[in-house]
Amino acid sequence: MSSNLYDRLLAGADSDQSICIEKDDGAALSYAELAALSGRFANFLAGIGVGPNHRVAAKVEKSVEAVALYLATLRAGAVYLPLNTAYTPAETEYFIRDAQPTLIVCDPREEADLRAIAAKAGGRVETLDQCGKGSLVQAAADFPARFDSIARTNDDLAAILYTSGTTGRSKGAMLTHGNLSSNALTLVQEWRYSSKDVLIHALPIYHVHGLFVACNVSFAARARILFMQKFDAERILATMGRSTVLMGVPTFYVRLLESPDLNERSTANMRLFVAGSAPLLAETHRTWKQRTAHAILERYGMTETGMIASNPYEGPRIAGSVGRPLPAVEVRVTDPETGAMLPVGEVGMIEVKGPNVFAGYWNMPDKTAAEFRADGFFITGDLGKLDANGYLHIVGRGKDLIITGGFNVYPKEIETEIDAIAGVSESAVVGLPHADFGEGVTAAVVRSPGSSVDERAILAALSGRLAKFKQPKRVVFVEGLPRNAMGKVQKNVLRERFADLYFGRA
Ligand code: AMP
Repeated sequence: MSSNLYDRLLAGADSDQSICIEKDDGAALSYAELAALSGRFANFLAGIGVGPNHRVAAKVEKSVEAVALYLATLRAGAVYLPLNTAYTPAETEYFIRDAQPTLIVCDPREEADLRAIAAKAGGRVETLDQCGKGSLVQAAADFPARFDSIARTNDDLAAILYTSGTTGRSKGAMLTHGNLSSNALTLVQEWRYSSKDVLIHALPIYHVHGLFVACNVSFAARARILFMQKFDAERILATMGRSTVLMGVPTFYVRLLESPDLNERSTANMRLFVAGSAPLLAETHRTWKQRTAHAILERYGMTETGMIASNPYEGPRIAGSVGRPLPAVEVRVTDPETGAMLPVGEVGMIEVKGPNVFAGYWNMPDKTAAEFRADGFFITGDLGKLDANGYLHIVGRGKDLIITGGFNVYPKEIETEIDAIAGVSESAVVGLPHADFGEGVTAAVVRSPGSSVDERAILAALSGRLAKFKQPKRVVFVEGLPRNAMGKVQKNVLRERFADLYFGRA
């Protein structure tokens, strides 16, 4: 059998009448209909000369047709390149110039911008809107539904996903058919996924979580996907009675907890709540368990590697840990400077190796070489430790590590202490330029509604609990923490906003 990801996930789907995707408006599409739609798109792609290794860029809203375009690209042997819909024209131009797609599919509202970019960078432009209408669908309508996938090997490219790039240039992670199929099939097993499952899908589909975890895993199991255009706590709660799985970023869980309707009864039909893409607070894990009797299953992954570790389906799901490495995935923790392995319990750089690890950064051989060890381990950039039971604990991104007066401070430790103080809703700790210390430990704090907790109270509460060098030099109050669409706190935004704090100009 070909190693084409489409065949690995969806062989035989063309005669499967079970429901694959239900849309917001209740309309449903069977696996056979999705296979036919993607077959038409694949024939159209092949007809305009899109073939092996050609890139197909998609900057479109979430729709069934967008999913069909992804599958059609795989079937045609080409490389799918989803772009965050929030990118500005200037950012989009960078990606298009870098990736040189043969075809760019965009929302009709952005057609003029994309045509201007394509006029300079090359590429044909077609449109697709959020209701599934546009020139792509029209152009493909008369093509046959049947399409035999172009044979691919495990090492051939299936997708390029640009990393969110909070520092420096965004990099295109090259993912192979083997990377994506091994990860999806492993997760089906690990999470006991089956055709009985009904997934609440409220994530965007330009990111690894919503596309490769949520969709690929559901396809491989022939589960049903309830597609929601965006996160809506009330709708999700109303849907739980006929669903079995929710995959979300931590903010989904925080917001669902705000609803009085979240309880054991409303979640009784659910069997699995998965969280990832950003750290889930141990507090959120515990409160969720109290309210629903479900332990959220936290997992850890990244664009370059797919999923790396997961708490177990059976067995303890530990609050504040991302669980054990997945089968066939090796994880080690090393000294960030020397690369030497560290003993259990020590914090260092998380490195990973396995069939899930990407093939390198597009057009960036030097960057790629710099992020792999000689023995093939990828340096994730995340700091963490393994415990005696083999569970991984993440303490933050390496670039968020604060070095103050020569001491290392891990922000998460300080944030956990601050979050426990009465009157604090949440916090983010960053290092800011400081004349004496190099970096000054600084806490940005969001007050709970109605709270008037101030800087003095927070510093006083921390004074007995943290070594002096770890205590924030300043506490600033913010309305909310800056987050990206996947719920990640954008510490670079805080660092920029308060860059002058210790120089008297902020
Ligand atoms: P992305 O490439 O956008 O998926 O971002 C990957 C990064 O998200 C990782 O390198 C981690 O820093 C972070 N991340 C993902 N899952 C978790 C998690 N469960 N806990 C903490 N950080 C996470």
